[in-house]
Amino acid sequence: MFRHFLPLLTITLLLGCRAAAPPEATPSALTTQSPLTPTPDSFTNARVNMVASQIEARGVSDPLVLEAMRAVPRHFFVPDEYLDQAYADHPLPIGYGQTISQPYIVALMTEALGLEAGERVLEIGTGSGYQAAVLAEMGVEVYTIEIIPELAARAEEDLKEAGFGNVYVLNADGYWGWEEFAPFDAVIVTAAPDHLPQPLANQLKENGRLVIPIGPIGAVQTLWLFEKVGGELQATNLGAVQFVPFTRSGD
Ligand code: SAH
Repeated sequence: MFRHFLPLLTITLLLGCRAAAPPEATPSALTTQSPLTPTPDSFTNARVNMVASQIEARGVSDPLVLEAMRAVPRHFFVPDEYLDQAYADHPLPIGYGQTISQPYIVALMTEALGLEAGERVLEIGTGSGYQAAVLAEMGVEVYTIEIIPELAARAEEDLKEAGFGNVYVLNADGYWGWEEFAPFDAVIVTAAPDHLPQPLANQLKENGRLVIPIGPIGAVQTLWLFEKVGGELQATNLGAVQFVPFTRSGD
């Protein structure tokens, strides 16, 4: 099915167009356009298919998450050379040894946060800005921290250009969280440390949710959901995952 869109993607590549949703999508590319997608672009079909075959098919069902993932132009956050794989079922390099996560993992982690519009979320590991965009699209306020200055700057620029006003980007070591805006309704960590950073647990509200991969560097980690109940964290194992390492300033 995805192959069907290659000619269109090739044209986009030749034009060197990274993101700015080309307005000239052919009628056939828009025939199954989702009514949930406010601004159709030439990748709309690929996105709708991605949500159906990679995400809903694997059991993610929160309508807020599915709508956001149908709406956010993932190709906007993917480097030019990987545009033709923007909606494929795997992570992609974004430079500096980092990756934009597989769409399904973004959906799984976002659903686990159990978000409602208007809540305040802290993300550690901005990377491309895609996960932050999905959260922002759900109507939550996003505070996101990235340790690599070049990635933080690029994501901030891309998020602004894509029109996400409710995202605040900070270049820092996310181990310490973002005290100034704490406490948070939810925290999502998209790089893997070998333990739960205590400051992140401290900055979580009562009834707050924290999703984080924890495990040895470079190996398979466990994705955990922590919920704060009566001041204590209750842990749920969400399965095995593989993330880039959580680094510390000075590493
Ligand atoms: N959420 C991202 C995925 C990024 S990959 C996206 O949607 O594209 C993980 C990111 O975490 C990398 O960019 C890496 O530089 C960053 N990271 C690793 N350790 C960090 C730390 N201590 N503080 C903040 N960011 C960190």
